[in-house]
Amino acid sequence: MTEKIFVIGANGQIGTELVAALRNIHGAENVIASDINSPNYALRNTGPFEYANVLDKDNLHHLFDKHRPTQVYLLAAILSAVGEQKPKMAWDLNMTGLLHVLDFAVEFKVQKVFWPSSIAVFGPHSPQYNTPQYCVMDPNTVYGFSKLAGERWCEYYFSKYGLDVRSLRYPGLIGWRANPGGGTTDYAVHIFHEALKHQKYQGFLSAQTALPMMYMDDAIRATLTLMDAPAENITIRSSYNLAGVSFTPEQLAAEIKKLMPGFEMSYAENDPRQAIADSWPKSIDDSQAQQDWGWQLEYDLPKITEDMLTNLKTII
Ligand code: NAD
Repeated sequence: MTEKIFVIGANGQIGTELVAALRNIHGAENVIASDINSPNYALRNTGPFEYANVLDKDNLHHLFDKHRPTQVYLLAAILSAVGEQKPKMAWDLNMTGLLHVLDFAVEFKVQKVFWPSSIAVFGPHSPQYNTPQYCVMDPNTVYGFSKLAGERWCEYYFSKYGLDVRSLRYPGLIGWRANPGGGTTDYAVHIFHEALKHQKYQGFLSAQTALPMMYMDDAIRATLTLMDAPAENITIRSSYNLAGVSFTPEQLAAEIKKLMPGFEMSYAENDPRQAIADSWPKSIDDSQAQQDWGWQLEYDLPKITEDMLTNLKTII
């Protein structure tokens, strides 16, 4: 069966890479990229593109009707750091946008929906190390509790309406093809750009702040593997923990230094993103993803570092 795939919020860090991967698999003409902003360089002239504001219900309804997608990926969101500056806007986009998509997915009988959650669903009273799938969850950022509420809605639409909605709690994502969109883990992308441009970087998190991170190639592969898995294997309809690899800014700087001995790292103090990072897990248990759909990580810290520097060098 030919899939017709609609990606909403395609212009961002994940969408740029996900659309390319989906077009490789399903053919460019079958993957409709959409965003509130005009298409970036990677999306321009590489396949169909629609302007879509996920909050504009009438136009979104029109686009579902026009394209009759078999799969929808909803990536439009306000991320953790920006969400703290615009809390009501973040809540509105992250919640109302999701509900529009879930409703239209039911109405137009979309076969599968993907919506990403985040490790931000955990909070200061969640276990910090090897955080399990099920535990106390008391997120204290708007981003975090919008994602937690979103997870509950996803599970609700699955059990109430039979909608095949699937989700991953992504860790902080690192990729070279697109810039990050205002999260707490953005430093782990900026550091590579600055290392190549200026041989130095001032981070905004403390040297010892460990966070779970993941290379974009792994994140895209996890997404496609989850979406390909037989429905009966998906035992979690809220969102799957995804561990990635946990490291501190100091460990990342040391890894870059191995390949660029002149690189210098410094650390800014009193950045508001520190408090967000401190409320998140330091490492994650993703055994359920391994068990249900065979998840295996490929990129550890040395491999991420080498790949980032090698590829970024060609475009900076
Ligand atoms: P991003 O900010 O890079 O991209 C979001 C895209 O959504 C942008 O292109 C933006 O123009 C678009 N957008 C904003 N408002 C819109 C609207 N009203 N209608 C349509 N499009 C709109 O974000 P990303 O990093 O690609 O993240 C995608 C998803 O993955 C989000 O749900 C995010 O919470 C989640 N996530 C990302 C990370 C990460 O590290 N990048 C980690 C965990 C979860």
